[in-house]
Amino acid sequence: MALVNEHFLKLPGSYLFSDIAKRVNAFKVTHPDKKLIRLGIGDVTRPLPPACIEAMHRAVDEMASESTFHGYGPEQGYNFLINAIIKHDFASRGISLSPSEVFISDGAKSDTGNIGELLRWDNSMGITDPVYPVYVDSNIMNGRAGVAEADGKWSNVTYLPCTAENNFIPAIPDHRVDLIYLCYPNNPTGTTLTHEQLKCWVDYALANDTLIIFDAAYEAYIREPNVPHSIYEIRGAKKVAIEIRSFSKTAGFTGVRCGYTVVPKEVTAADINGKRIPLNPLWNRRQCTKFNGTSYITQCGAEAVYSPEGQKQVRETIDYYMENARIMRQSLVEAGFDVYGGVNAPYLWLKAPDGMTSWKFFDKLLYEVNVVGTPGVGFGPSGEGYLRLTAFGKREDCVEAMQRIRSKI
Ligand code: PLP
Repeated sequence: MALVNEHFLKLPGSYLFSDIAKRVNAFKVTHPDKKLIRLGIGDVTRPLPPACIEAMHRAVDEMASESTFHGYGPEQGYNFLINAIIKHDFASRGISLSPSEVFISDGAKSDTGNIGELLRWDNSMGITDPVYPVYVDSNIMNGRAGVAEADGKWSNVTYLPCTAENNFIPAIPDHRVDLIYLCYPNNPTGTTLTHEQLKCWVDYALANDTLIIFDAAYEAYIREPNVPHSIYEIRGAKKVAIEIRSFSKTAGFTGVRCGYTVVPKEVTAADINGKRIPLNPLWNRRQCTKFNGTSYITQCGAEAVYSPEGQKQVRETIDYYMENARIMRQSLVEAGFDVYGGVNAPYLWLKAPDGMTSWKFFDKLLYEVNVVGTPGVGFGPSGEGYLRLTAFGKREDCVEAMQRIRSKI
């Protein structure tokens, strides 16, 4: 008899998006003539940069000929892409990395979910709250999160609330944790940490022997100068941090699938006797065993992001989304809402008025102005009373949604 991994049975259903769909469908049935505007999705809508399309077409043609065909590639990724990443994303910011510290993957979701395999199940962990749900769910699966408590929190997880009260700056925990997940720019709040604020986390990790998983999936949206693009901009971070990035939101690769993880040679964890074990060879071993590499065609597309045309095209698309964010932010502020994010991230985080819950506010927007957002409580307990809007929609939809909100809410 095969015994099931009972930790999977502890997982709460992934109700957020199905609950949203149910409510939206019920609305559509009763209001068939209303035009809904969806600002809830976390997916991009603009097509891929032409430079990436051309590179992928060329790669497909190479696959058609015996002399240029590519079969299995290196599990870690091709050097042409790794070198482009190091040059453009890190060396340009004064960070030196060797090619063997960068691992190409099929996206940041896999890497954020899989990285915990390198660590024992009984490490303690912390997350900022609210946050991308994969961090907690993947730790529930391996037993590290503990058991669910009545308030919806997990017994072995330290929650670091990020709310308007603390200006979305998580307080450094008053006790040590073994593992901490940081996501900046943040999904869902759209907020960031300054260099000094992130330095506090690196210093905490150095002092407490904590491993930081730093998810920088929205790095390309950073506009302000004092916001670090990489945790390795902070001195000492290479000893304590693994950084995960994605081409999804940077270059519209949500349907193509490519990301990468940096595991510096210096970053270690301890074995049960206290001996330091470098995590780089462990991640390499894990990837070589369980992952057979990102497709050649995809990696050619990703490399083209770093070409001069690719950079220009990526910038144009990000500018488009960020102009949406600016318009939305301005309209919501004018309408009297407390609104956060949208400056260095494509997410706007709205405080529900009059102490409304996230779901009540969701329904109000749906029924009164026919706009769909995402209830903040779906991202963690401290998301209650907030709603996430994304700037990934069409310009005209964003503008119309804001007009509706301004005139009716
Ligand atoms: N990390 C964060 C914070 C995200 O919001 C997302 C996607 O929404 C991901 C990772 C997943 O990215 P990918 O498409 O590369 O798997």
